[in-house]
Amino acid sequence: MDIRKIKGVAEKRALLLEKMGMHTVEDVLYDFPRRYVDRTKVAKLLYTIPDGEILLKARVVNKYVSRNRVFLDIATELARAKIVFMNARFLESKIQSGEEYYFFGSAKDGTLFNPEFSDAIDDNFLRIVPIYRLTEGLKSAVAEKIHIGALELVDFNGESVKEWLPDFVFEERPNMMTLGEAIQTLHQPKSFDAIERAKKRIVFGELFSIFCNVLASKKRESAEPAKKITYSSFKKMPFSLTNSQKKAIAEIKGDLESGHTMNRIVNGDVGSGKTVVAYVAARMAIESGYQVLFMAPTTVLAKQLYEGYVNIFGKETMRVGGKIKNQGGETSKNQSSEELRNQSSENFKNQSEDIQNKQTKACVRTVYFLSSKQTAAEKQEIYVAAENGQAEIVFGTHAVLSDKLVFQNLALVITDEQQRFGIVQRETALQKANIKHNLYLTATPIPRTLAMTFFADMDISKIEEMPKGRMPITTKFVDSEVAPKMISFIQQKIDEGGQAYFVVPTIQNGKSNLKAVSKRLKEVLDAEIGMVHGELKPETIEKTMADFKDGKIDVLVATTIVEVGVDNPNANVMVILESERFGLSQLHQLRGRVGRGNRKSYCFLMSRGELTERIETIINNADGFSIAEKDLEIRGPGTFLGSEQSGKFKISYPFSMEDLKSAHQAAVKFQSIS
Ligand code: ADP
Ligand code: MG
Repeated sequence: MDIRKIKGVAEKRALLLEKMGMHTVEDVLYDFPRRYVDRTKVAKLLYTIPDGEILLKARVVNKYVSRNRVFLDIATELARAKIVFMNARFLESKIQSGEEYYFFGSAKDGTLFNPEFSDAIDDNFLRIVPIYRLTEGLKSAVAEKIHIGALELVDFNGESVKEWLPDFVFEERPNMMTLGEAIQTLHQPKSFDAIERAKKRIVFGELFSIFCNVLASKKRESAEPAKKITYSSFKKMPFSLTNSQKKAIAEIKGDLESGHTMNRIVNGDVGSGKTVVAYVAARMAIESGYQVLFMAPTTVLAKQLYEGYVNIFGKETMRVGGKIKNQGGETSKNQSSEELRNQSSENFKNQSEDIQNKQTKACVRTVYFLSSKQTAAEKQEIYVAAENGQAEIVFGTHAVLSDKLVFQNLALVITDEQQRFGIVQRETALQKANIKHNLYLTATPIPRTLAMTFFADMDISKIEEMPKGRMPITTKFVDSEVAPKMISFIQQKIDEGGQAYFVVPTIQNGKSNLKAVSKRLKEVLDAEIGMVHGELKPETIEKTMADFKDGKIDVLVATTIVEVGVDNPNANVMVILESERFGLSQLHQLRGRVGRGNRKSYCFLMSRGELTERIETIINNADGFSIAEKDLEIRGPGTFLGSEQSGKFKISYPFSMEDLKSAHQAAVKFQSIS
């Protein structure tokens, strides 16, 4: 319904609302208040007025005006107070000395500033007031009128707010409001209790429809099955795979051969070796003649993935009459030509027939890294190679989403640290594929409950086992008292050849104490100190990271930019300042930046406050999955999903584990009966 049908909304206001994303009457109905002000309880006073928001019923005993201000002395039975209206001379005539009024506003030292007011006989003043989001030119009172106007237009049995939840939901949940009731309640609440019930109804509907979608999309598209995949190339790894890695690889192989598209998450703790699994998955597709796209959220990470891949498999794959032969690559150099020949012939037997027929003469397929910082010519070269099929794999950040990057035969999209990408970006990448095999890597542990609900459309390969030889990381709480001891300990570790991270939280608007911290560290440590944060040029970041990796820098002071995927096995000390500001999973992720090499590693959680239950959870748990379960317990699933999954799931209000389970159970039931 056209938004101009609402009483009081003409062209000008319609434009304002449009700017706020509201185009129809329905949009206005679903624009719920951000909060509510309780204007129902008249304060009972004993001589004084407490500071803060307050509702008074009081008589005006004195009134005077000075310049543009109106001053009132008011009296309740026992208390006296002052009221000041600024820039409000016009109010003078509206308030009479000797009369009684309601005043609602914020008090400080016995004075109320610019309160709202009404005659004491106006009971409409005493209510719960919804507070809507506003924009310039739209005042609170007007916003409320518009929403009431929208409610007046609605036939609550009609189309716009028709109940769509199945009947059994209400039969099984007698307390559940209908959609119409909930919407009405949220805009014109009678009690806070009713508001809570209405919010529950809205969230239930949102969760229910997410779960219905998730359950429905569990069905996979059919896809040409890859034939007899080999992944001999994993033999080139400089280490033997863990059982968890092997299992994940077998599951991926099963997906590629299944005749349906893959939709899989590899979920394993930081350092569990997800990258290797992804590389092998990529090789399976490549050796079957397909192209692969590998996305990472930061340039640093994308570059690292690219270099790691080239190190193992070389920059080019030679194909002779369907045979594959890798060029270069540190590991392959060490292999005998005998071995290489064996591998090639093994691959040859298993090439898909398609490739055997097409590829008769020698051709070279190349590994590429695409970044938005490259020159137009460099990018162009990659675009051409992707389109004509010469690129076997392209690594990159968001730059790979460009329309210009088109593939001849893309069959696998791999996304590292998937929670960093929104759903739209992932879909964009997948659109480029002829066969939409989809592989996500994430270190954010997905607790069982969430795996069963939000991720039910995905298969999950859990990597639970760490590569051998990892020494456990010692984690300690550090307050200001022991900080000097920590510093001399770190000096010792640096003198032994180790390296340290100092992670500083961003405070507000991307600002942090980074500079101050590095300045101070230069004074107390005899070490080379570098600094990275998101506002630096990508080249600068890259250079500093490389210097850190090469050991030219001993201490890297950084924001959480280092949280994701940075791999420097020589770093063995992680210091997190103001650790209370970070989420549990985030702390765990940061800690995972150390303990990757042969050095005994340490994590110091600094705080100005006391040791909290949260920090203790990190100290006592080494396993990301149990930390996530704990986090879920402490924060509730609503906020848990909040920051990381906001792109995928938008839910209006926080919700509990019970809400989640209830909606999921209903969705499962609905699927089974429909
Ligand atoms: P993440 O799961 O955090 O992405 P990575 O894939 O970056 O972990 O692996 C972390 C480190 O462990 C890397 O240096 C990698 O080479 C090494 N690694 C991976 N798998 C194994 C293994 N099976 N044995 C020994 N080292 C391994
Ligand atoms: Mg990784």
